Amino acid sequence: MAKENIPYKIYLEESEMPTSWYNLRADMKNKPAPLLNPGTGEPMKAEELAGVFCEELVKQELDNETAYFPIPKEILDFYKMYRPSPLVRAYFLEKKLGTPAHIYYKFEGNNTSGSHKLNSAIAQAYYAKKQGLKGVTTETGAGQWGTALSMACSYFDLDCKVYMVKVSYEQKPFRREVMRTYGASVTPSPSMETNIGRAINAEFPGTTGSLGCAISEAVEKAVTSDGYRYVLGSVLNQVLLHQSVIGLETKTALDKYGIDADIIIGCAGGGSNLGGLIAPFMREKIKGEKDYRIIAVEPASCPSFTRGSYRYDFCDTGKVCPLAKMYTLGSGFIPSANHAGGLRYHGMSSVLSQLYDDGLMEAVSVKQTEVFKAAELFARVEGILPAPESSHAIRVAIDEALKCKERGEEKNIVFGLTGTGYFDLVAYQKFNDGVMNDYIPTDEEIAASLAKLPNIK
Ligand SMILES: *Cc1c(COP(=O)(O)O)cnc(C)c1O
Repeated sequence: MAKENIPYKIYLEESEMPTSWYNLRADMKNKPAPLLNPGTGEPMKAEELAGVFCEELVKQELDNETAYFPIPKEILDFYKMYRPSPLVRAYFLEKKLGTPAHIYYKFEGNNTSGSHKLNSAIAQAYYAKKQGLKGVTTETGAGQWGTALSMACSYFDLDCKVYMVKVSYEQKPFRREVMRTYGASVTPSPSMETNIGRAINAEFPGTTGSLGCAISEAVEKAVTSDGYRYVLGSVLNQVLLHQSVIGLETKTALDKYGIDADIIIGCAGGGSNLGGLIAPFMREKIKGEKDYRIIAVEPASCPSFTRGSYRYDFCDTGKVCPLAKMYTLGSGFIPSANHAGGLRYHGMSSVLSQLYDDGLMEAVSVKQTEVFKAAELFARVEGILPAPESSHAIRVAIDEALKCKERGEEKNIVFGLTGTGYFDLVAYQKFNDGVMNDYIPTDEEIAASLAKLPNIK
């Protein structure tokens, strides 16, 4: 039974923060499929990955057995700057909806990067520094990852080169300036600086870019620059591992007040916040100790789970990365320029893909204008201006709370509020002006993209 008088914000003490990351793969019965070498079709070996990624991160990437990784003290100290993050009881939203459901959200937007991405950025920068590297390269879509990584690199005095998807570079000049303030160099992608950028520009003149394309450029830059490695802000197993702090804190906070979650909801781009949020809950579900409904929410414009195929695919447009088995729309899929930039990736984490394929979680896709209606309502009653990505989870949390109202059910709904939307005001402007559209790819477009998947079972 939940205790009475649950506070608006459930804060944890510093001493209650997790001191290890939790690796859900260790408890999965069906492990996620391994990354494959595109040349040989064999699973990628640590030595092969070490040319692209930092050594310690390669170990984390390949480890399906170790359940807990102690968080190094330097990273824990940095976490204390902005963690633990609050779990908020959305009393005002509940009242507005007139629902008997109890709604909670874990708010990850309370740091300058404005999202959960800092949780992994600081870990990746730490391991790069420890290895004695000069710097790292990366891509950024909406800009949150690039910002988080710039902050982490400046903290550890590492050089940071960011390839930013061109549409965001143009739409979000202020995010670019935050990155530069933290010392990063920012290049719009596709650029003319890399072989892959030049090739993509030649094939698709005027393209506004995609995450898959920016990844190719960042990887090329890393492997051709001495003392550099590439880092990625989502999708990879290591990123989900670092993001487990979200779920571990959430679970401690709920347990503190005797609250049992019924439904857990998160937006899914590459799957890192959702994978982190659900990790300790999914552990209980797999072990048969508890049952939760777990829902991934994706944009209707880039519906990897709900309309993609569970197959081996390239992680990037330039096909320089290993192959990953995942729900994918095809690495050549370039989604329409919708406003949830952080959810525009063509594929999905292998961990979440396996869980979804095993029927352990659900997925829904939502239209952009419906998402912004939810964002507006949430901002007006709960005060926080949410990121468009996060608002996908808000949309479904509201929909579930309204179903509870119809059925008179007092369920506990927990969702991840991954970030704030201060840099997304062009999108809010379109919404406020009534000119936002809901582009949804046709079956033919998706089939054409899937037809180009590599032929690997
Ligand atoms: C990047 C981002 C996401 C999506 O990424 P995941 O890896 O799927 O978590 C969601 N919300 C915000 C605010 C982001 O910056």
